[in-house]
Amino acid sequence: MHLLDLKYGESLGEPQDNKMVEASEEIYSSLHQQFKGDLLRPSDSGYEDARVIWNGMVARAPALIARCADVSDVQKAVRSASQVGILTAIRCGGHSLAGFSTCDGGLVIDLSRMRRVTVDAGARRARISGGCLLGSIDTATQKAGLVFPSGVVSHTGASGLILGGGTGWLTRRFGLSCDNVEGFTLVTADGSLVRSDSKENPDLFWALRGGGGNFGVVTEFELRLHPLTSVVFAEGLSREGDIRRLLERWRDFMPEAPIDLKWNIDLRLAPHARKVPIELRGRPVASNSLVWTGNPDHGRPYLEHALSLCSPDSVSSGIVPFTDLQTMADSNFPHGRRYYTKSGYFTYLDDRTIDRMAEAVATIPSSGIQIELAYLGGAAARIAAQETAFGDRSAPFIRGRTPHGSDPSADVRNVSWIRDLFNKLRPAMKPGVYVNFMSGDEQDRVPEAYQERWDRMVMVKSHYDPNNFFRLNQNVPPQKTPCEKVIAIRIQN
Ligand SMILES: Cc1cc2nc3c(=O)[nH]c(=O)nc-3n(C[C@H](O)[C@H](O)[C@H](O)COP(=O)(O)OP(=O)(O)OC[C@H]3O[C@@H](n4cnc5c(N)ncnc54)[C@H](O)[C@@H]3O)c2cc1C
Repeated sequence: MHLLDLKYGESLGEPQDNKMVEASEEIYSSLHQQFKGDLLRPSDSGYEDARVIWNGMVARAPALIARCADVSDVQKAVRSASQVGILTAIRCGGHSLAGFSTCDGGLVIDLSRMRRVTVDAGARRARISGGCLLGSIDTATQKAGLVFPSGVVSHTGASGLILGGGTGWLTRRFGLSCDNVEGFTLVTADGSLVRSDSKENPDLFWALRGGGGNFGVVTEFELRLHPLTSVVFAEGLSREGDIRRLLERWRDFMPEAPIDLKWNIDLRLAPHARKVPIELRGRPVASNSLVWTGNPDHGRPYLEHALSLCSPDSVSSGIVPFTDLQTMADSNFPHGRRYYTKSGYFTYLDDRTIDRMAEAVATIPSSGIQIELAYLGGAAARIAAQETAFGDRSAPFIRGRTPHGSDPSADVRNVSWIRDLFNKLRPAMKPGVYVNFMSGDEQDRVPEAYQERWDRMVMVKSHYDPNNFFRLNQNVPPQKTPCEKVIAIRIQN
């Protein structure tokens, strides 16, 4: 079976389309005199490196990559692309699982030269540019003993993560990343620079917190920071025979756990690593990672209790600097491997669901696949569903699966296994999906992500991007203009 049969590597754009080639030439001509950043075409050195994104499953060839040096470059690129009508992708860290930060034959607006972080320690605020990676924010904010709650891998782009929501080790303590944004500055589809916060353009402020890249290119985020420099980190592996009991205990314990405790579980085959007991290597295990973000002395009894529920092997625990916590998973998710994921929410993990997960671990086809379980709740759950586009936070169990490998011939087996398990678990899931954990073949789930917030999203989209210029994303199409509606009706008839 070819990847296209999986409806995954679907082409976004047309590499051979003459109109697209002409359009990209037109944009190049209009930009190259005044553009301060780099304009890369396929024949240019540096194009090949600039073309690739993190997910090796997505290989596309844009006609032009506009690597912007500043906000005015972004405005120029958006204006000319909008006028010419070329398919345009926006890229921050290039970690879109779905591969939306590239396209075939179109334009990529690449923000990787815009990585400025400015911290105001007294006000506990930071301003970050639209191309920042999480690691650069952590490095800068830690110099002032402050943190911004974001994701768990430091080479992830901040823009895509924040705009979709943003979960990580600090979510239970400080909320989602988007809950900690005070204001956005963005370039909208007509090239205007627009500010949005709780007072200025409040509808847009609502939509940008969870609505992804639908509304414009965010060139600056104003972030709220919190004091924290280290955490207590503990980890341990539970054996295959203990997985059912572990999941039951975790399910029952977490709703009452303090918000300072984050406990993630990955069901997987144990790695062939020195710290893993020989008899467990390659065997199905539950890998427990626990983080305590409060006073270490207060956390000790909770961590000890939690660990007693896991019956774990090879336990390690200790105080780790925040930047170490934020980089410890980096090498598990290398660039260029082949990744695919499906995810969803559970209000409750019933026994049947736990059985299905435990049975599934025994059939995992490759060591790269893991079933990731996280418990949200805490500060993230204190914000009401209608307050942000991210929406409902009432289902605390979130699950995703991310396999990776370098062998394309294993795609069919791995992807089929994931889809199969997803279909088995789906009946127990609550409707809803986190847009940042969606793959490229799931556009039909976008309405499910926004549910009762859909109409408001469409309204804001129609106002700021009526022609759907920003469409390479978990797309919320604008309302059709009356004229388009007539044409659609005629075509149907
Ligand atoms: C290794 C890895 C680890 C991850 N860990 C976490 C995690 O811990 N928590 C979590 O919540 N998510 C996590 N994710 C998912 C992550 O949030 C999304 O993949 C996100 O899209 C990555 O952002 P990016 O800027 O790198 O993406 P890109 O691929 O650069 O962009 C993705 C999309 O975001 C939009 N976008 C990007 N920049 C801008 C901008 N400046 N303005 C407007 N729109 C923009 C565009 O629509 C674009 O298509 C992880 C992903 C990976 C690959």
